[in-house]
Amino acid sequence: MGDYFKNTPNEKGYFGEYGGSFIPPELQKEMDRITDAYYAISKSHQFIEELRSIRKHFQGRPTPVYFAKRLSNELGGRIYLKREDLNHTGAHKLNHCMGEALLAKYMGKKKLIAETGAGQHGVALATAAAYFGLECEIHMGEVDIAKEHPNVVRMKILGATVVSVTHGLKTLKEAVDSAFEAYLKDPVNSIYCIGSVVGPHPFPMMVRDFQRVVGIEAREQFLEMTGELPDNVVACVGGGSNAMGMFTAFLDDADCKLYGVEPAGRSTKIGDHAATITYGKPGIIHGFKCYLLQDEKGEPLPVYSIASGLDYPGVGPEHSMLHDLKKVNYTSVTDSECVDAFFDLSRKEGIIPALESSHAVAYAMKLAKDNPRQSILVNLSGRGDKDIDFIVENYGIRK
Ligand SMILES: *Cc1c(COP(=O)(O)O)cnc(C)c1O
Repeated sequence: MGDYFKNTPNEKGYFGEYGGSFIPPELQKEMDRITDAYYAISKSHQFIEELRSIRKHFQGRPTPVYFAKRLSNELGGRIYLKREDLNHTGAHKLNHCMGEALLAKYMGKKKLIAETGAGQHGVALATAAAYFGLECEIHMGEVDIAKEHPNVVRMKILGATVVSVTHGLKTLKEAVDSAFEAYLKDPVNSIYCIGSVVGPHPFPMMVRDFQRVVGIEAREQFLEMTGELPDNVVACVGGGSNAMGMFTAFLDDADCKLYGVEPAGRSTKIGDHAATITYGKPGIIHGFKCYLLQDEKGEPLPVYSIASGLDYPGVGPEHSMLHDLKKVNYTSVTDSECVDAFFDLSRKEGIIPALESSHAVAYAMKLAKDNPRQSILVNLSGRGDKDIDFIVENYGIRK
């Protein structure tokens, strides 16, 4: 796949039949400007050097790869964790936020606008805005604001304005609509910074490119630690940014099996999960084509996951393509398996994982049990501090 990154997406922003740009003409003009700026600026020596320096000195990269010895010994297989929970702000999201904000700076923008689900993207973007001295406006569903209170406070401390979205299900999907609306009111001075590998071109490509650092580091670190490549690579999939960042480094490695883990929630009923590729069909949401949980009219269905960050009816166009090409295996993990993994990793390794990341850990634990001789590299996308109150209230402290 030598030319993969040159040809994927194509010049129109398509990953196979997915992606593209299905938006009103006035928004298309702005997306074209961002695309042109990205192609020009991101290749400049100055931009690359500045981003490299930020990653090292501000974010604390490279994050380590860690062999989870006690967990592995108990299960059979060998589980390794790429520690994105140790990236500044506690998740992988800062990787693309620093990139997007740096692009905004080079484009002369004054304000960053975005949506957030669990609040992780909002915190990461508010952090980037503070770093560069830019204004920041975060749109968040009322339901998520109540559930993720500490992240709301964090964003405000960092100087961001948090806009509460009170229509529809009051979660991520409505927050995206609201953020787009705000952006269209002042596209000259502001820039929309999407939180995953979703949305119209160029965002799925840009966010993927900024996340590639995760996979590039992890592949090298894993090789250095073990002398070989992992047999299996696992990441959770909401929109799909942490998974794309990890998977892109292994697409050429025919012997590495890649697993994208979707949230199976509390049942297979509509509204009880957000397993988009598992149960969805191709459709259009938020200006791009992808697998989508949709009704007969093509309207997005309500979705749910215990992990707010995985709670989205669409999925990145590149994942949609990789699924059709059978390059990545998409599977799912229930809320209850996720909570088990949350406690297992906390108790056996001293690492409290985000509920999103716990989905990947849960699947890795299944793989380890079934394949005692194999190695498994997991993208531990974030830390679970944000989830502890919710877990204790709903599940108590497990013995
Ligand atoms: C947001 C989030 C996710 C899901 O987003 P992707 O774009 O699918 O990576 C996963 N893990 C953590 C910790 C998150 O904050």
